[in-house]
Amino acid sequence: MTGQASRNCWQVSPDWKKWDKMPDLRPFTHRIYVDFSGDDGDPGTIGASKSICIAWVMSREEDISHNESVVLEIKKLIGCKRSANLKYVSLKRHKFKKEALTLLTQLKASIVVVPVLKEMIKEEQLRDPQTKLLVDLIHYFPLDRLIRGISRESTGIYFQLVFDQVGWKGCKEAIENLFKQDKRLDWKNARKDWLLFTKSGNSLMLQLADIVAGMSREYFEDLQLITLPPCNVCWIKRTNTCAFKRKREAVGKASLLKIIYPMLAKNERGDAWDVGFVVRPPGLNTRYLFVDCLFKK
Ligand SMILES: [Zn+2]
Repeated sequence: MTGQASRNCWQVSPDWKKWDKMPDLRPFTHRIYVDFSGDDGDPGTIGASKSICIAWVMSREEDISHNESVVLEIKKLIGCKRSANLKYVSLKRHKFKKEALTLLTQLKASIVVVPVLKEMIKEEQLRDPQTKLLVDLIHYFPLDRLIRGISRESTGIYFQLVFDQVGWKGCKEAIENLFKQDKRLDWKNARKDWLLFTKSGNSLMLQLADIVAGMSREYFEDLQLITLPPCNVCWIKRTNTCAFKRKREAVGKASLLKIIYPMLAKNERGDAWDVGFVVRPPGLNTRYLFVDCLFKK
């Protein structure tokens, strides 16, 4: 893309041409909150997670206070202080887990989750937790999938990216660099706070991203223990007669995905597979075609 279209809002309304040579001071139209669950350690070692799952949660500016109130409702329900940093681990085995997660159906958000099965990664560099390459990548590439959907529907999108502050040295710079290399983003003219790293304790929306990442990881890791439906056949035939759906068979902890499925980013056909539900490494993703068979209305 060139000229106006290359600005970091992806599509700019003509009114803003005057800002061309100046730092962009427009208010954001959307904010995207990103957090991950699990770790990048070798899955063969004790204590390391089997997978790492990142959640990208996008809210329109005007829906943020509504979405924050949903997080506060969850805290109230499970007896967590308003000011406490809510994490999915507190919900995972809570007696009101189901009730708490059901509150998430009220969210007004668009979501991309990327579960990565670490043992299936072949590239040495990506496997090696020392490089931090895997973590850097999942903090970058899902943006494209999240934005594709909204740029079909609206123009003048101008978003802020909010990441949980990451512990290791150089991570912020590495992630920044990935965005800076993206020719579609006009880094130089963007607001200084276009990319923000902040503490999740200060952000109800980052706490929400942690919950979405945590429940997605729980769902995904549980799927590794069962035989998945062969829905690639349904997908090729496009007949909409999936036997699993007809028999209403639940695959794994279906109630978890059922909550977030309506919010997952979709393609033109309304499918979340590899758009809002992006299983990695590639090649593994076709096993998960069943998410659309089973959860699509
Ligand atoms: Zn199917």
